[in-house]
Amino acid sequence: DSQFSEIPLQPKDAAFSLIEAFHADPFPQKVDLCPGFYRDENAKPWILPSVALAKQRLQADPSEAHHEHLPMQGHPKLLSGARELVFGRDVELQRIASIQTVSGTGANHFAAQLLSEVIKPKNVWISAPSWINHTEIWENVNDSINKRFYPYYRKEDQSLDFTGMVDTLSSQSRPGDVVVLHACAHNPSGLDLSVEQWKTVASVCVEKKLFPLFDSAYQGFATGDLEKDAWAIRYFYGLSHLEFAVAQSFSKNFGIYGERIGALHLVVNSAEAAQRTLGRLLRLQRAQITSPPSYGAKIVATILSDEELFKQWLKDLDHMSGRIKQMRKRLYDELKKRDTPGSWDHLLVEVTWFSSNLLLCHPSC
Ligand code: PLP
Repeated sequence: DSQFSEIPLQPKDAAFSLIEAFHADPFPQKVDLCPGFYRDENAKPWILPSVALAKQRLQADPSEAHHEHLPMQGHPKLLSGARELVFGRDVELQRIASIQTVSGTGANHFAAQLLSEVIKPKNVWISAPSWINHTEIWENVNDSINKRFYPYYRKEDQSLDFTGMVDTLSSQSRPGDVVVLHACAHNPSGLDLSVEQWKTVASVCVEKKLFPLFDSAYQGFATGDLEKDAWAIRYFYGLSHLEFAVAQSFSKNFGIYGERIGALHLVVNSAEAAQRTLGRLLRLQRAQITSPPSYGAKIVATILSDEELFKQWLKDLDHMSGRIKQMRKRLYDELKKRDTPGSWDHLLVEVTWFSSNLLLCHPSC
C-alpha cells in the first residue's frame, strides 16, 4: 500500500497528447496541425538566422562560453532589452519590477502566485476560449480563487464577441479581480482587439478597479511589427495609476521553445513599491529555481543588444509572420476552390497559425 495511491488519476494533457498521436500515426500524408511551433517549408524546426549568428558569437567568446549561474533576477541585458521591447524607450524604469522567468509559462505562474498573495482577487477572468494553461496555472497556484470566463470568440460566426466581453467584465467583476488579456495574436482564436476596443477595455479596468495581466507570447508575430503588437500594453502604461503585469515569452518570436526564456514585469505606482515587489519575486525565484535558464537568455540578450543582430531579427520576424499569412491565404484559396462548405473568411482576418486548431475544433484549443 502506498501513501500515493489516493492521488486521483489525471486526464492527459490535450495539446501534448495530440502531438504524441500525430507522431505515432504512420499515415504518410498526415498533416501537422498541432499547435505551438513554427515550421519551415519542409515542416522542420527553423533556427532563426539571428539566433544562429548569436550562437556563433557566444561560442567564440570565452567570457560567454561557460555554464555559470545567471544572477537570481536574470540576465541583466535580457531584462533591459525585454522591458524596452514591451514598454518602449520612454518609461520610468524605477516603476517596473522585472524578473527573468522559466519562459511564458513561468511568467504566468509567478504572476498568479504574486497576485494571489498581494492583490488577493476573488476572481480571475480568462477569455473563453484561452490558452488552456491559464486556467491550469491559476487552479494550481490557488484553487480558492474563482476561474471565471469572459466571452471572447463566437464559434457560430467565427467573430469577436466584444460586447459580451465588455458587458460581462462590467457587470460581473469585483474590484481587485485579475483579468488576463492576450497582448496580441489571441490564442487560440487569432482575433485581436482594435485600438478603440482596447481603450474601452482599459476604461473598464480603471472603472471596475481590475488588475490587468497581459500575456505577451507573440510580440512581432501577429503583425510582424514589434511596436504594433505592444500597442495595448503601452496604452495601459500611459494611463496613470493603473497598475498591471506583463508575462512575456520569447519562445515563439525567437524560435527558442526549449530554452525556456521569458520575463515577468510588474508596473506599480511607486519606486518603493517596485523595490518591494522585486524583493518578493526574488524570494519566489530563490525557492523555486534559484537562477533562471542561462543559454537562451544569452542568445536573446546578444540579439537585443546588438544593432546588426537586431536588424536581422526584425527580418526573421517579418519572414515568419509573412509566411504564416501566406499559408493561411493558400489554405483559404484551396478550400474555396473545392467549394468546401462553410465560411472561411476568418482565415484571412485572424493572425496566428493557432486557428488551424479551430478548423478542427480540437479540445486542445
Ligand atoms: N501564453 C500563451 C497565450 C501561449 O500561447 C503560450 C504558448 O503556447 C505561452 C503563454 C507560454 O509559452 P512558453 O512557456 O513556451 O513560453
